[in-house]
Amino acid sequence: MSTAVIAFGSNLGNRAEIIGVARAALDAHPSIVVETMSPLHESVAIKPHGADESAPAYLNAVARVRTDLSAEQLLEELMRIERESGRERHERWGDRTLDLDIITYDDLTMNQRHLTLPHPRAAARLFVLEPWLDIEPGANLGEQSIAQLAGDLGSAHPAARTRSNHSGVIS
Ligand code: ADP
Ligand code: MG
Repeated sequence: MSTAVIAFGSNLGNRAEIIGVARAALDAHPSIVVETMSPLHESVAIKPHGADESAPAYLNAVARVRTDLSAEQLLEELMRIERESGRERHERWGDRTLDLDIITYDDLTMNQRHLTLPHPRAAARLFVLEPWLDIEPGANLGEQSIAQLAGDLGSAHPAARTRSNHSGVIS
């Protein structure tokens, strides 16, 4: 069995419901068990040029799963669940009903276009690091602790900090 950290994001439609359905779809897979999942956090949309207050805000969450699937098989499942949520891809980093990313898969490092691990932008994304801290405050990403990464990023970019009521009822 392997352990993977998965990030959820949604900024279109009924965001909380979409993330809940995605979690249920993961858990329904015979080879995936969702061990723990963070509360929902809300964050401003980040576009290639920076934070975009005019775009719909995201809800984000991070889960830790156990799985018999390989990293590639897990990615295929995530993309299937994204498709089933009605996701359409238009522009890079565009608005989407559901984004599912693999942040880490055991200690695997790989660098291919279809799958890069750890996720290459996770260390710069407060909307990944802050929910991840809720479930694994002592986690490391590469050489650095996610607590340190999130602290530094939050000081440098306060507008990118997420909001959470820690009861999972933001919607
Ligand atoms: P982003 O998540 O950066 O906004 P997309 O969701 O549109 O972008 O994903 C683009 C591609 O990223 C996917 O087709 C997938 O193959 C690739 N990808 C590479 N590494 C990963 C990863 N660790 N997790 C999820 N997708 C990844
Ligand atoms: Mg993605």
